[in-house]
Amino acid sequence: MSSSMVKGYAAESVGKALDLIAYELPKVKEHDVRVSVTHCGLCYTDIHAIDDYYGITDFPFVPGHEIVGHISEVGAAVTGFKVGDRVGIGWQGRSCGKCEWCKRDEEQLCVSIVDDGTWVPYGGFATSVVVDGRFAYKLPNGMPSEVAAVLMCGGISVYSPLRKHEWKGVKDIGVVGLGGLGHLAIMFAHAMGYNTTVLSSSKAKKDHAIALGADHFISFDDKESLDGIEFGLDLVLCTAHGKIPWVKVIDTLKKRGILVLVGFADVDFNSTDFVAHEILMEGSFIGNRAMMKEMLQFADKYKITPMIELMPMSRINEAIQRLKDNKARYRVVLVNDIPQRT
Ligand SMILES: [Zn+2]
Ligand SMILES: [Zn+2]
Repeated sequence: MSSSMVKGYAAESVGKALDLIAYELPKVKEHDVRVSVTHCGLCYTDIHAIDDYYGITDFPFVPGHEIVGHISEVGAAVTGFKVGDRVGIGWQGRSCGKCEWCKRDEEQLCVSIVDDGTWVPYGGFATSVVVDGRFAYKLPNGMPSEVAAVLMCGGISVYSPLRKHEWKGVKDIGVVGLGGLGHLAIMFAHAMGYNTTVLSSSKAKKDHAIALGADHFISFDDKESLDGIEFGLDLVLCTAHGKIPWVKVIDTLKKRGILVLVGFADVDFNSTDFVAHEILMEGSFIGNRAMMKEMLQFADKYKITPMIELMPMSRINEAIQRLKDNKARYRVVLVNDIPQRT
């Protein structure tokens, strides 16, 4: 392989297993940085994109958007970075810089967001990636790279909505789902001082939830406990995918409580209680750049330590299967073992 090529794990078409391919080194434009990838976390969004669940995936597709690595090239207009700096990169790799949302520093809502992903044209399960330098974040010195990787998407996705509501009198919160996002939400919520209840379909996760910092654990099957927190929560953060027992979730919320979706759950509930209790519902998508920087400082200060399974990147298909089978506890980070030169 010549040094002008990148190697990355790609799905050649919808739903296919990933294979190592070589492609042209994307050019570093004036605002860009090139980052040699050392670690990349696996997020369920990668799997959805491989399956073209969002209808926006171009193939061959190299997923990966929880990236940590070292700067290897800096565009002419980039300031604040030098070759060798360790950085993290999340789902968003660029933004148009001109739309109303970019002007308000809410880049995650950029009108061109479909084309703003770090994985456009190729993502982080590769020897290197190129992104706009404004979307690469310097990492706290003591933070392990695998921890930083998980924070770049999973961390910001739950930190941002918890932080946004912190000043609105919210005290009692619920977390639906104890997986990659859910376990991060528990740790951040605990560090922020919320009284946190985990709502899960799996009773077996109770001890884990409490160990991560949850104050209470309720199984959806436990009618008595559910009755006990009826109208008890100010805000529920839904981190789960797929089917959710919505009526039970809504009934845990106080009147005018807030239901925040961060995972891509199927929404198909009877709206009677939702309407009668005047529930508010909002989606929350990653976070802006300012929130990302704040989250990294917060995670460093409170030593947020996600539960991570480390695997070599060459076992990426096995890692994907672990996530699909709901076996990962709770996040998988792939350590780059792709030979840099062959
Ligand atoms: Zn993600
Ligand atoms: Zn924009």
